[in-house]
Amino acid sequence: MMAKHFNIPLFLPELACPFRCSYCNQAAISGQLKTPSLEEMRATIESHLQSIPIGENHIEIAFFGGNFTGLPEKFQIQCLEMAGEFLQKNQINGIRLSTRPDYINKAKLELLKKFGVTTIELGAQSLDEVVLEECGRDHTVADVYSSASLIKSYGFRLGLQMMIGLPGDSLEKALKTAGRIIEAGAEETRIYPCLVISETALEQDFRAGKYIPLSLDEAVFWSAQLVEDFDSAGVKVIRIGLHPSEELNNNGFVAGPYHPSFKELVMTEAWRLHFEKQDWPEANEIQIEVPASERNFAIGYGAKNKKKLLTRYKKVKFVANPSLQKRECIISQILPCS
Ligand code: SF4
Repeated sequence: MMAKHFNIPLFLPELACPFRCSYCNQAAISGQLKTPSLEEMRATIESHLQSIPIGENHIEIAFFGGNFTGLPEKFQIQCLEMAGEFLQKNQINGIRLSTRPDYINKAKLELLKKFGVTTIELGAQSLDEVVLEECGRDHTVADVYSSASLIKSYGFRLGLQMMIGLPGDSLEKALKTAGRIIEAGAEETRIYPCLVISETALEQDFRAGKYIPLSLDEAVFWSAQLVEDFDSAGVKVIRIGLHPSEELNNNGFVAGPYHPSFKELVMTEAWRLHFEKQDWPEANEIQIEVPASERNFAIGYGAKNKKKLLTRYKKVKFVANPSLQKRECIISQILPCS
């Protein structure tokens, strides 16, 4: 059986971020968030370790929420030494962190390597120059490519996160971004729909009618196609949409394609698109074999896909087949008992 992956997230707010990405409210919330002390981080890790079920697990301590490599070096080292204690005791398998593409260089990577970091996630957001410019990211597509290749040359696992529906974005550009993430050699990705959060430049543009967020249906449709591309290229999609608990509670959601079950909606759509390409038998009753982990997605959120098939067939049975992967499926007619 494949080891189950667990991240132990430690949020380090980017209180002194000099950037002003239009969708981010860090400037407004700066001062309200507190960087946890090393003792608090240790306690968080201990409590997560106790709640992780015993079994074949792959556990990583994950420094999120800011540009880790932009933090003062002394603090980076303190965090990594603290995480390293758990690594040395074999209580975790690795350390991951997220940062900006333009906060990567050889010296920073050598430091991370020395302290046992295994995975680096870059917030790429879009790999379209105009979109990056319009949302004030203040880095270029070339920055993402060069950092990605440097990270890989040091042997880290690379994650490139993307955001859809930013100002100036289109489905075509989002698909191009996914293609470039694959080309840059990412092993994993996260797909976030852009939301309008209070006290951001994007909120002002939204209120002035200059920015229109994606509708939920659009965001789901775009994401389903991205998932398909990433899956075909072997890039693991480790997150689709925001977690309701972690990221939105205190962050003043104003507008945009937010849904607490966004991932389920996207996977339902991915299967709907996949089903559209299949040859369907003329029959009364059918059986659809799908991978065990995908069965609920294939049936669909609120049984959407199953209900649609039931308008054509009298009976539709979804069966888990452990030898199938991703969107593989076997459709057959259920023959009446003789
Ligand atoms: S999203 Fe942009 S503004 Fe917000 S913390 Fe990251 S780099 Fe800074």
